Amino acid sequence: MKISKLKVTQAATHDQPLLNSTGVHESFRVRTIVQIETDDGFTGAGEAPHDLASIIEPNRDWLVGWDPRQITKARLNFNGTPGAWAAVETALLDAAAKQAGMPVCDYIGGRARDKVDWAAYLFYKFADENGVGEVATGAALDPEGFVKQAEEFVDKYGFKALKIKGGFFHPDVDIETFRLLRKRFPKSEGYEIRIDPNAVWTVETSIRVAKELEQYEPQYLEDPTDTIEMHAELKKHTDIPTASNMCVSAFAHVKPNAQLGGIDVILGDHHHWGGILAYKETGVLCRVMGWGLSGHSNNSLGVSQAAMLHACAATPELNYPADTHYPWTDEDGDIIKGGKLQFKDGAMEVPDKPGLGVEVDDDALAERHEQFLREKPENRADMILSLDPDAKPRDGSWTGYNFPNYKKPRW
Ligand SMILES: [Mg+2]
Repeated sequence: MKISKLKVTQAATHDQPLLNSTGVHESFRVRTIVQIETDDGFTGAGEAPHDLASIIEPNRDWLVGWDPRQITKARLNFNGTPGAWAAVETALLDAAAKQAGMPVCDYIGGRARDKVDWAAYLFYKFADENGVGEVATGAALDPEGFVKQAEEFVDKYGFKALKIKGGFFHPDVDIETFRLLRKRFPKSEGYEIRIDPNAVWTVETSIRVAKELEQYEPQYLEDPTDTIEMHAELKKHTDIPTASNMCVSAFAHVKPNAQLGGIDVILGDHHHWGGILAYKETGVLCRVMGWGLSGHSNNSLGVSQAAMLHACAATPELNYPADTHYPWTDEDGDIIKGGKLQFKDGAMEVPDKPGLGVEVDDDALAERHEQFLREKPENRADMILSLDPDAKPRDGSWTGYNFPNYKKPRW
């Protein structure tokens, strides 16, 4: 079994104007899709955030001709970032598992669960003037609007865990949103609520917010502040668990966190840590250290969502519902055949088909690639660094939004 063909394609897909501490998501998200074919007739696909084609392409010469089952040596050979490797590894695993006749999670040692629970990833947001989103296309610019969005997500997908993407407004607004959300979705009915302001609070603010939120029993505080040390300071003042995909997001951060004890729950992500197998390794580290394991998500299309699904299914240590952006992916914006993967009761079933269980729709991908060439979104296309409420989108899209008066907050 040898790779006979490698294709690396950038894709741009419509995104909604979601707000976070950095600004607003652009109207297009950029993903890189890796596809391989083997000489014995199997295919594999992987997906990476952003445009990573220039990082993956230099590995073409040795990848073509490689046996996709030789994954450890391929990882050692790969010259590039963990995110770029993750897309390649996913494609290798997809093809190798197909050849073995097994779903990826079973091919890599067997599943710990047949379905995976996910969290509703909720944002303050502008109304989507393009109006083609699958869910919550209206504005959510205050706590009441935020709760409405949560109701839509819970009604449509059945999520039991709710994540507040905070940090865009003053912390008092986030506290009020949390209070209203908790009132509407009580813990006694099985709902868990977490909040992530992307590290824009000082330690003092984090302590104040934690004290205010304790009565509402947050599941965890995700990256309230910056460093492992700052979270360790916060933990002296509250029993609410801390979580991170920012200050603990790579193997190099594990030892400092072990020494300083700032973060209780790791948000694993095969894109950040370097593949589905690395996600399993993150699980082992969490078991050894007594940390919790959750999942991070960023703008996934169907191939990434399937890869996350298999990573989560194959990792017994996962003990929180993982984040997923996937509901924000439009039905006609995805690149897989047969429509989007479906949530039921807040969970997604692991497909029984060999490999990832999804196939790239080459026509849809070609369209998304044309969109990428036409729109030329920035590499980090989902964030705009400055924000001006009076600015208008260019050509009816959100691309080109320019908010010159916006500064990343520090509360
Ligand atoms: Mg986060």
